[in-house]
Amino acid sequence: MHEESLIRTLLSQVEDIAALNNAVAVELIEVEVGPLSGVEPLLLQDAFERLKEGSAWPNAQLSVQQIGLDVLCKYCQRESQLRDFRFVCSHCDSAELQILRGDNCRLLNVKLQVNNSCV
Ligand SMILES: [Zn+2]
Repeated sequence: MHEESLIRTLLSQVEDIAALNNAVAVELIEVEVGPLSGVEPLLLQDAFERLKEGSAWPNAQLSVQQIGLDVLCKYCQRESQLRDFRFVCSHCDSAELQILRGDNCRLLNVKLQVNNSCV
């Protein structure tokens, strides 16, 4: 399943970040999901709940932010955010668009719990 392999990748990324920062726990993992990423936020959340049990951070929470689709118009060189999958520039109606953001799923932020006391 697509979402499951994404979560596996995400958890190993977070593991690296946590190790680098000497974290004792991971509190929150924030990801953004674009409309063209092919990722279903609910399934992503589901996969996370299942997989975190077996991970080093069973108490971590996942926050999924759904973002819009940002494009750059090749004709008028202006940016716009597409809604309702209407694939035209909102300034000049050109369909010559380059996708800037919204076609993938990526890690935004990780909130770690770091133990600062020297024992
Ligand atoms: Zn345009």
